[in-house]
Amino acid sequence: VLTNSYLIADAETGEAAVIDPAWNARVILSAAAARGWTIRHLWLTHAHFDHFGGLAGVVAGTPAPVTVGLHPADLPLLQANGGAEIFGFRIEPGPPPDLAFQPGQILELGREQLEVRFTPGHTQGHVVFVSHAASLVFCGDVIFQGSIGRTDLPGGDFATLLASIRREILSLPDETRLLCGHGDETTVGIERQSNPFLN
Ligand SMILES: [Zn+2]
Ligand SMILES: [Zn+2]
Repeated sequence: VLTNSYLIADAETGEAAVIDPAWNARVILSAAAARGWTIRHLWLTHAHFDHFGGLAGVVAGTPAPVTVGLHPADLPLLQANGGAEIFGFRIEPGPPPDLAFQPGQILELGREQLEVRFTPGHTQGHVVFVSHAASLVFCGDVIFQGSIGRTDLPGGDFATLLASIRREILSLPDETRLLCGHGDETTVGIERQSNPFLN
């Protein structure tokens, strides 16, 4: 399964963050280097292995000190290697998180700001990151184009996920872009209208 990693930066300082360093650390590192950006933050939407498989490699290849952020409710999942064994994978764990996300917390990247929203259901400690200025959400495995995150893995709960989507995603304006952990981007309005799980 292909996972989307997102590399974002403050244009002025070049201070960068990786949201979900999925697999290929080398690709992430060279994308940052090509732009003259310095990765200082690794922010995980949740602790499934396919969303942090590149964490150790990015940290090892980054000269500057980095912060690793995760919601504490997903810490046990991270310590269990993100469920990798269930799928027959082995991953390098990387350093433990040193930033515990809280609902409503504001993450700063230069002058850019992201709001942390707590969206359990796919995992117990899933969060999404909202840029109100850019009108977009990095939404991990909460919602996809025409679908929602699976809830059959340990810690998953269908009713909890639907409640999270209604509370934290559908409360945003229709034009808000949803940058998903898998597949193409969509918008709040499109999913509100046509997502079969929400209608
Ligand atoms: Zn997941
Ligand atoms: Zn995923």
